[in-house]
Amino acid sequence: GRSTAQYQELDAAHHIHPFSDTAALNAHGSRVITRGEGVYLYDSDGNKIFDAMSGLWCVNIGYGRQELAEAAYQQMLQLPFYNTFFKTTHPPVIELSSLLAQVAPEGFNHVFYTNSGSEGNDTIIRMVRHYWATLGQPQKKTIIARENGYHGSTIGGASLGGMHYMHEQGDLPIPGIAHIEQPYWYANGGELSPREYGLKAARALEQKILELGVENVAAFIGEPVQGAGGIIIPPSTYWPEIQRICDHYGILLIADEVICGFGRTGSWFGSQHYGIRPQLMIIAKGLSSGYIPIGGVLIHDTIAKVLIEGGDFNHGFTYSGHPVACAVATANIRILQKERIIERMNEEIAPYAAQLWHGAFDNHPLVDDVRSLGFFFALTLVEDKASRKRFEHGSSMALRCRDICLKNQLVMRATGDSMIAAPPLVMTRAQAEEFVRLAKQCIDEYARELGK
Ligand code: PLP
Repeated sequence: GRSTAQYQELDAAHHIHPFSDTAALNAHGSRVITRGEGVYLYDSDGNKIFDAMSGLWCVNIGYGRQELAEAAYQQMLQLPFYNTFFKTTHPPVIELSSLLAQVAPEGFNHVFYTNSGSEGNDTIIRMVRHYWATLGQPQKKTIIARENGYHGSTIGGASLGGMHYMHEQGDLPIPGIAHIEQPYWYANGGELSPREYGLKAARALEQKILELGVENVAAFIGEPVQGAGGIIIPPSTYWPEIQRICDHYGILLIADEVICGFGRTGSWFGSQHYGIRPQLMIIAKGLSSGYIPIGGVLIHDTIAKVLIEGGDFNHGFTYSGHPVACAVATANIRILQKERIIERMNEEIAPYAAQLWHGAFDNHPLVDDVRSLGFFFALTLVEDKASRKRFEHGSSMALRCRDICLKNQLVMRATGDSMIAAPPLVMTRAQAEEFVRLAKQCIDEYARELGK
């Protein structure tokens, strides 16, 4: 192999990193990750790093599972590629589709494949418009999404997303997308209780439907728990009210399960955790535990019926239902099932990890709004806890905190003024203790640096 310095030099010379200030990155040099095992990463200097972000919220079964490598290898030898466009299909896509129908909530018996979550979100824009047009309502086009939501980086995904800094680059959103507030009680709740605020935030959907005219509204989309927006766990009243409004006005409910799907909340899908009944669910990430790119849209029978009877749906990707990706995803889901990874995480580890997380941070002077759900963990860095005063430059504060974590061999993520984590679902009790101990050590170090 090359030395770390050689890697960094070549990386700086030839690689533009996603979501990065490349000049700043190159001045500093990127960490070179060379290997993964369980919840740990190793870098080119031999450091062992606790990956409390599961890569990008995706390596749910942990790094280094031979079975997935074996599935990819065997499938590449057997049939590395074929498509399903023109009256053909193949065993891996059939196996995965029927397995997904087994693990998905009742009524989700069909799937459309993409390579990523972004493409899944692009797909739903075309799919819901096609659905309403097939039903004779082509003007029913607008999709209502949320501020600070994240639905990907394609033109469609970034338009559905509510990230202003993304909209500013490339003149987004495209027409036919509207946004309402995110259900973020800590930031927006004011004097309201979380329950009251949850209803208020949900009713913004009703107001928006009435403002746009229900005859023009196709669907509402949201992440059950907003991930990239900072692990925003909605008040318990929020989703039931959203469901009521969607039912009442007859608009489709779409759950972006790219992060929540495959166990993150403690249920197989975030929709199940909140007891909502979407008609479409976008999946990616945990579908293959990130071992290979694959995503898709799970389609409820009510929608599938119209798509099936509605003639051609002129949409698809060369790699839709890629045989190798399907074989890997199938092997991944079988491991989740066989080892009861989601159930064990939910029953045995998550409550213990939550207790450790709250124990470490509930009374920490630099921290407020300590939150957790399933294997989501988050906290907000605050200037003054008593008055809930937030830092003026919260996001640069959190970025500094993230650097301290990485220096201490812990990967956490900074979003706005929050520090967030989503460790692999295979994290053990001992590793949960290690994770929280490391996180506490890093936040303490930062508090000392700030003179707190
Ligand atoms: N939707 C959600 C909720 C996500 O978190 C992400 C990625 O983080 C996406 C969509 C986009 O997925 P991808 O990066 O696979 O295109």
